[in-house]
Amino acid sequence: VSRQADMFRTRATQDGLTGLPNRSEFTGRVDSLLHSPSRGHVAVLFIDLDGFKDVNDSFGHGVGDELLIEAATRLAAEVRDSDVVARFGGDEFVALLADCSDDEAVEVAERLRASLSAPYRVGHRDVVVSASIGLARPGADDDAESALRNADLALYRAKESGRDRVSVYEPAMHASALRRLDAAARLRHALAHDRLTLAYQPIVDLRTGDIYAMEALLRFDHEDFADWTVTEVIEAAEESGLIVPVGGWVLDAAIGTLGEWRRKGIDVRMNVNVSARQLEAGGDLALQVENALICYEVPPTSLTIEITEHQLVRDLEHSTSELARIRRLGVRVALDDFGTGYSSLSYLPRLPLDSLKIDRDLTSRTGSSRDTVPAVLRLGRDLGLAVVAEGIERPEQLSLLRAAGCTLGQGHLLSMPLGERAALELLRSSGRIPLPAPTTAPALDPSGAPEAAEA
Ligand code: C2E
Ligand code: MG
Ligand code: MG
Repeated sequence: VSRQADMFRTRATQDGLTGLPNRSEFTGRVDSLLHSPSRGHVAVLFIDLDGFKDVNDSFGHGVGDELLIEAATRLAAEVRDSDVVARFGGDEFVALLADCSDDEAVEVAERLRASLSAPYRVGHRDVVVSASIGLARPGADDDAESALRNADLALYRAKESGRDRVSVYEPAMHASALRRLDAAARLRHALAHDRLTLAYQPIVDLRTGDIYAMEALLRFDHEDFADWTVTEVIEAAEESGLIVPVGGWVLDAAIGTLGEWRRKGIDVRMNVNVSARQLEAGGDLALQVENALICYEVPPTSLTIEITEHQLVRDLEHSTSELARIRRLGVRVALDDFGTGYSSLSYLPRLPLDSLKIDRDLTSRTGSSRDTVPAVLRLGRDLGLAVVAEGIERPEQLSLLRAAGCTLGQGHLLSMPLGERAALELLRSSGRIPLPAPTTAPALDPSGAPEAAEA
């Protein structure tokens, strides 16, 4: 065989960067092992580095490549000679573990995860990434393709439940993946046929009952979505990328409604949820917001963009600069579901924010020994941010929140999300929500300002 032919063969079976087997070599090896009559228990692992994209974006591809080579070396060092580690491209690695029990497979996967999560010394700096791993145990009927698909579904679950973990494939994952695809297809259809609507939930001044703003919430009032919750559909939209056009529709519709209400003499603020994917898409969200405000003749100060905490921290640098652009228009920015993400308090002062929305999980602990709302209120005050308590459901919560000096709130107790007509009706009539008199008398100071009560 000529040297050139040798080189071609190597190229056809190897990944050029790491020298590991490539995809076609790996699937061939899996298939032949699965078809061999003497095969024992086998495991297939799908491995993905968490945060690798950030490394590439921040330090350049050279550093990224170095990290991948080091990751490949670590993986190869952790498995036996009879096992196969391969790279599928990007930061996607796979492993085939021959002849191992269930326990051994999980143990090896955990070892790989730990090894990949140790700091990397690349490009004269220390870089930390973690790894998510999906593990599948192919059965008698499986081939390489189905084994890999199952491992990939398990990987999806590992990422979804917070990354840096191993997740083992279960058949139910298949059903939920199909369900997500189904939801995305229905949503695509609804968007194309103009069947999306918005509901509006008041954000209320807890001192007076005045409506401070309305939050626009996506609704699917169609029998196609009878079996789906909003959260499920939004998740499917996030995953498929459909959230970008759907979020564009929401923004346009919400600002359109604001414009219509203004023409009827109603001046109210509107909060609109956006996904981090809308900030990333290169779709220029700031320009889109600006155009809609001009088109519907709405002042920028009437609009607040809400972004969920855990989405924001994922791609902090880019999201921050995009949000800062939006804020420079005069639009406000709220951090949604505060207290549920992996917030590091150190980044909070640097974010371009106007308010925090306390997640309803935290609100529900009001008055218990695990009540962190007073601490968040102090934090908000120190940082000059308004604080909104979400998900107020019970009268005791409301009075405790008021006593703690929380001045803005939202929740079923105050008002359910309303259809457009009911929302307009409410704004037109009184523009306020009747509040019960405080039940537990807060220690009011002489000026009667609830904020000062806890000082
Ligand atoms: P979110 O932005 O935190 O919105 C508040 C959610 O809590 C809404 O659920 C609302 O109906 C619900 N809620 C309000 N008060 C209460 C209460 O007292 N108790 C309880 N249990 N729930 C309450 P919804 O409409 O199902 O929306 C869920 C999430 O979906 C939203 O959470 C938001 O993250 C996302 N979402 C909704 N519309 C949009 C949208 O247009 N774009 C994007 N990107 N996300 C959206
Ligand atoms: Mg929200
Ligand atoms: Mg929220």
